[in-house]
Amino acid sequence: MEFHLHNDPNLPVAWGPWFSHEYLTYYSVKSLDSLMALPQVPVKPNPRYGDNLWPISPKHIDYYKENWRETCKLDLLQTFDYKKRNGEYATEAPQGKKIEPWKVLVIYSTEPDLYPDTDLFLHKNQKVTGGSHGWRHMQFRLLGATYGIAPESFLVHRELAELAFGNGNAYWGWRYLSRAAHYLADLGNPFHVKALPGLFLAKKMFSRADLFKIVSAIHQSYEVYVERRFREGFEPFQEALMEGARAGQSAGMDLTKKTSLNSYIKKARKWHNRIFYHFLNEFGQELLDAFASMDSKSKLDAAAQTNRCAASAAKILFKEENYSKLDFLDKITAGILVDVGRVLGALFASFCVQGQVDRS
Ligand SMILES: [Zn+2]
Repeated sequence: MEFHLHNDPNLPVAWGPWFSHEYLTYYSVKSLDSLMALPQVPVKPNPRYGDNLWPISPKHIDYYKENWRETCKLDLLQTFDYKKRNGEYATEAPQGKKIEPWKVLVIYSTEPDLYPDTDLFLHKNQKVTGGSHGWRHMQFRLLGATYGIAPESFLVHRELAELAFGNGNAYWGWRYLSRAAHYLADLGNPFHVKALPGLFLAKKMFSRADLFKIVSAIHQSYEVYVERRFREGFEPFQEALMEGARAGQSAGMDLTKKTSLNSYIKKARKWHNRIFYHFLNEFGQELLDAFASMDSKSKLDAAAQTNRCAASAAKILFKEENYSKLDFLDKITAGILVDVGRVLGALFASFCVQGQVDRS
């Protein structure tokens, strides 16, 4: 039977339109019967663990989507900004509300791409990843140096989840786990674990600013492509995630072990060159032009800048004459999504036992 996140009757319209991380999580949780069967947990305020250890941007607000009001119905295929939703949500934990753990995992999975990681000073080299946001969502090596801390972002949030569960706050346990899953999924994205092909850099035919533009444009194009496929209800992606999650749940993979996490990251990195050159060679200047307004000197976060260009990129990628060029990406991406599903399945399954306990 065909089912998709965007037409699941168990989810209110006010939570849409839906974005990639929500699809990744949704199809992964859907194949974990023990997780889907967990009873509702009471919504609670944020225990604010680790505020000193892991600073959060002052711009960030914890919304509570359990308390929602539908305000509009945006076009699924035309929405590229995570902030734009069909509803408004409470800014305080609502009293007396309960929610299923799988829903918490799905609806908060985009949260790390809003404000928690923006406008922070984390490292002197963070400009290379487009700012503090990219720093926490990526990790790659370039000319002998390592940029970004995404594995740490994952591990910190996984630990916060454990702490919340241990203290009887299952709701925040799941919510922290949802954030952890975001960073983990990011690490399965080739563009988050590699910046550009080595030879491309060695040619030195571009200025630093041009290089920044090309790399950001191709990275963002790939994100636009994947998200559009999910929103179209593209079956191979759904099947890949479900297959991966089912395998991951029984694999007994320990993601706190460096070897497990590193082999997952390495696999993702391996795909980078092929996808990078496919975009560059098949879509070329037209696609790069869609990102012409990108500027490395801009005060705006790279992610915020690229959002604006996403709509024009989607138009180019999915116009009819370009359709056959997507086959190559479809095949590679389905393989990538099996790997992402596998780690998400392993992560979620490992929390199913302690997640049942809510000592409120
Ligand atoms: Zn991210």
